[in-house]
Amino acid sequence: MIRAFFPGSFDPIHYGHIDIAWRASKLFDEVIVGVYNRSLKNMLFSPEERIAMAKKTFEEEPRINVMGYNKLTVDFAREIGAKVIVRGLRVFSDFEYEFRMALANHRLAHDIEVVALITNEEHTFLSSTTVREIASLGGNISTMVPQHVSDALIHKFQEISDGRTNIHMTSLRD
Ligand code: ADP
Repeated sequence: MIRAFFPGSFDPIHYGHIDIAWRASKLFDEVIVGVYNRSLKNMLFSPEERIAMAKKTFEEEPRINVMGYNKLTVDFAREIGAKVIVRGLRVFSDFEYEFRMALANHRLAHDIEVVALITNEEHTFLSSTTVREIASLGGNISTMVPQHVSDALIHKFQEISDGRTNIHMTSLRD
């Protein structure tokens, strides 16, 4: 039984991520989507909100489960018995970052392999940053995220514009 770990910020989860998790679930017995809680980036959604959105996304997929984590990715992967870390590759600029991360992770944990899946061409342009920016300006994101994520974005930007939630506007960009 091979368990794979798919880590990221998922702020919020979108169809690019969902496609990678789903395809990984065809290759491995179980995929754990890991929502990282201690990102250096400013996040729009809290860890609890990001985890809840990811859980709802995969509620009908028995082989895809969601967990939050806040330690080194390889340490967490080992803790949950994952032998593989899955990442998605969109454009060449992702490659350099993912390449460095994979080498660093391999230095830390020789027993864990990094597998990168190439994005579906439909999702090449898709990033959480793009989704947040379009949503913040009231654009249509229905082809980019599931309905519950779209609702959560509308709600979040409503809260921000009402002054009920304070976020650093820099959090709209990665
Ligand atoms: P980060 O981990 O840098 O915060 P994300 O949480 O957005 O980035 O992404 C988690 C993983 O999903 C990364 O491997 C990233 O390359 C991948 N990913 C993000 N967007 C897409 C997409 N549109 N298609 C394929 N993979 C993607």
